[in-house]
Amino acid sequence: MTERLETICIVCPNGCRLVAERKGNAIEVRGNKCPRGIAYAEAEMTAPTRSFTGTVASVFAEMPVVPVRTAGEVPKDKIKEIAAQTREILLKRAYATGEVAEANICGTGVDLIVTADMRKVVGNTEGV
Ligand code: SF4
Repeated sequence: MTERLETICIVCPNGCRLVAERKGNAIEVRGNKCPRGIAYAEAEMTAPTRSFTGTVASVFAEMPVVPVRTAGEVPKDKIKEIAAQTREILLKRAYATGEVAEANICGTGVDLIVTADMRKVVGNTEGV
């Protein structure tokens, strides 16, 4: 049986329509305008990954929700678990952009980081 995947490459804005077919141990990719499309399609067929973006809660009324994202790509099948874990996080001090809200989120080896400078909204809460 031939395993087949039709997908859109999201590596760049061109958005090439890709068709990937597994033939034995090889994966044949069509529709790509550059080699990165081949790598993307192969990864989609073997171990798809995604970045996660979302929000976490904070204790500050001035900024009750804070944007976060994973510092890198995580396995696609972990996204729901990460979203659920993210809903449990409550930030109790002002984080700077890039600070880790939760290390190794859901055992992925990737950190969940804050993507806004809370200090600009709530002030510096160190020592509070
Ligand atoms: S195959 Fe290459 S050109 Fe096409 S969307 Fe992917 S990265 Fe862009």
